[in-house]
Amino acid sequence: MPELPEVETVKRVLSNKVKGKKILSAKVYWNNIIAFPEVKTFEKQIKNQTIKNVDRYGKWLMFELSDYYLLSHLRMEGKYFIKSSKDPKEKHQHVIFNLSDGTDLRYHDTRKFGKMYLLEKEDIYNVKPLSTLGLEPWDKNLTPKYLKDKMKNKPIKTCLLDQSIITGIGNIYADEILFSSHINPNILGSQLTQTDYKNIIKSTQDILSKAIENGGTTVKSYTSEEGVHGRFQTHLKVHTKEKCPKCKGVITKTNIGGRGTYYCANCQKERVV
Ligand SMILES: [Zn+2]
Repeated sequence: MPELPEVETVKRVLSNKVKGKKILSAKVYWNNIIAFPEVKTFEKQIKNQTIKNVDRYGKWLMFELSDYYLLSHLRMEGKYFIKSSKDPKEKHQHVIFNLSDGTDLRYHDTRKFGKMYLLEKEDIYNVKPLSTLGLEPWDKNLTPKYLKDKMKNKPIKTCLLDQSIITGIGNIYADEILFSSHINPNILGSQLTQTDYKNIIKSTQDILSKAIENGGTTVKSYTSEEGVHGRFQTHLKVHTKEKCPKCKGVITKTNIGGRGTYYCANCQKERVV
């Protein structure tokens, strides 16, 4: 599943490719991808809208159109292709936007889990899906106090994946953030100290910023054959690793809240409460 840095990369590539273009028409081939409004209305409302900007909130791509926002979540396998409008439609292309310059923006999704919303601009942060999301990692309101107030009596690993607290942290980076903060993933989020919350915020910002920087090469090397999925080599320290890069101990693999979790039991010790 793409995480925030990957979605940011997709945003940057798409912004270069589609900003300023007009959507002449859109055709939906798999109705369940459109969460709102119903497909006929979606196709009608998006007609003749100009793409003014491409933005991101958490893991949602936000296409700012003349009168609406088109929100798109890639979920497991979603990606975008820019193709000539003359190219035949391929099997997994489920939504096709026909643009004013003779190209198509094509949404491709082998698993069909992706979702799109077309919403009135003024409502955008007050209605689902964005209304349910917590703060972006770089929001100035993300403070130790905010975290302390929001934390639950659940393992910190689970709290970090809770999109209503911080939005955009996925399974891979949650493990990396806790390793960098020296916090055992099983400790309850509500039992951490002020210093822990501070370390979590700093690690989140550092790790995600670094991953976005790494994605920069993808932005430059983008080719339309690959599609824009934003996958790139990230520099991971614990997730899927066997040996701790710090103490050379064995990495523990466990399951927390149904998610595969990696940590170093030596560097991220259990605590007596
Ligand atoms: Zn270690």
